[in-house]
Amino acid sequence: MTYDRYPKATLEAWDDQHVWHPFTPHSLYRDESPLLVVAGDGNYVIDHEGRRYLDGVASLWCNAFGHRHPHLDAALRAQMERIAHATMLGNATEPAIILAKRLADLAPEGLRRVFYSDNGSTAVEIALKMAYQLRVQHPDPAQQRKTRFIALRNAYNGDTIGSVSVGGIDLFHGKFKALLFDVLHGPSPYCYRCPLGKERRTCGTACLEQTLQLIEDHASEVTAVILETGMQGAAGILPLPEGFLRRVREVTRRHDVLLILDEVATGCGRSGTFFACAQEDVAPDFLCVAKMLTGGYLPLAATLTTEQVFRGFLGAASEARTFYHGHTFTGNPLGAAVALAALDLHEREDGAGDLGAKIAHLQHALSRLHGIPGVGDVRAYGLCAGIELVHDRATKTPFTADRRAGMRVCLRAREHGIFLRPLGDVIVLMPPLSITLDEIDHLVDGLAASLREELRDAT
Ligand SMILES: *Cc1c(COP(=O)(O)O)cnc(C)c1O
Repeated sequence: MTYDRYPKATLEAWDDQHVWHPFTPHSLYRDESPLLVVAGDGNYVIDHEGRRYLDGVASLWCNAFGHRHPHLDAALRAQMERIAHATMLGNATEPAIILAKRLADLAPEGLRRVFYSDNGSTAVEIALKMAYQLRVQHPDPAQQRKTRFIALRNAYNGDTIGSVSVGGIDLFHGKFKALLFDVLHGPSPYCYRCPLGKERRTCGTACLEQTLQLIEDHASEVTAVILETGMQGAAGILPLPEGFLRRVREVTRRHDVLLILDEVATGCGRSGTFFACAQEDVAPDFLCVAKMLTGGYLPLAATLTTEQVFRGFLGAASEARTFYHGHTFTGNPLGAAVALAALDLHEREDGAGDLGAKIAHLQHALSRLHGIPGVGDVRAYGLCAGIELVHDRATKTPFTADRRAGMRVCLRAREHGIFLRPLGDVIVLMPPLSITLDEIDHLVDGLAASLREELRDAT
């Protein structure tokens, strides 16, 4: 393996001059010395100098079984020997057919149809457009009036304009307000900074009751509710209260409102079950998966839905009920082939190993962070965690934005051989499912050391 085809300085200069990085203020980018990754090996990424870092955020939440996994690599090579891409518009391809069948067999009751796209944002966009078109082309005028959506504050469902419309994070979404369609928002269902000003101990679930009320009040004009299953990820790993999803499902069913679940972050094993909605025994009308679907190898996403929704799009050509949506690389055979191999690993004992034991181990290890100056709320969901940094724990006073406390801690963690990427001042731990128990300890203890070194002025 050579790391020196171009000198690091040349690559860094070209990166600075020509590349526009996502979700990154370029004015600060150089100070925050981006890791120049040239290779991966299991749960580690390797930089230009050959240094190894534990991939603490699974290369942005998507790597499931480690880098360069032999089974995934082999599946990809085998598919390349056949064909890299063929369209699904008018054609069918073998891997996409088999993947749809296997996803439908794994999915909760009723989800039998799979619509492919390339990423989480498009998977959500497709569910929104289907839920809308289904109603507007319905013969019943009462159905035609059901065209609005209900979402939650703090939601994140991607960066395309439709998925931004149902989003609720002001920093990301606020500036686009005039471009977005009008969505009804329920409160963010998380207690640490209660949007209703309630005390966690005395509240019960006021946020849930408000959301259920919103559904009941607006049922005649609403086509669907969209939720991130299990937790609001990009908002800072905010777990939903237990039972939240189940209650929303009951009320949506009662009022003929569809339920769209965004499992882009929490699906494909992150929660401990393959689909996160299985944790509450809920079957939605739309289920969106992306990030870990291919084990983190290639961009492929799927929107699963029911035969009932599918039938709303059937009819003679002259009726024009077709879903006129598709992407050039919809159902790409390489992506589908590697997703099939990832499903094999989910089914094999030596794939991710004992996920339940890993989740318990991580949640136990997190208790070692309590009491470190600067550590506020510590939140966990499945095999991931969010550690909220605050300048003063007693008053929950945040750090100033310019301090870049989250980013500074993540930079420090590199000295402990760990790669992390924060969400503002929330440190995210979202390792590959293949992380070992020892590596979980290294991740948490390395973070603890980084926090102690970096946040000396915090209390
Ligand atoms: C990452 C994410 C998305 C967007 O997925 P992309 O592949 O980045 O477009 C949507 N929803 C959730 C919950 C996510 O975490």
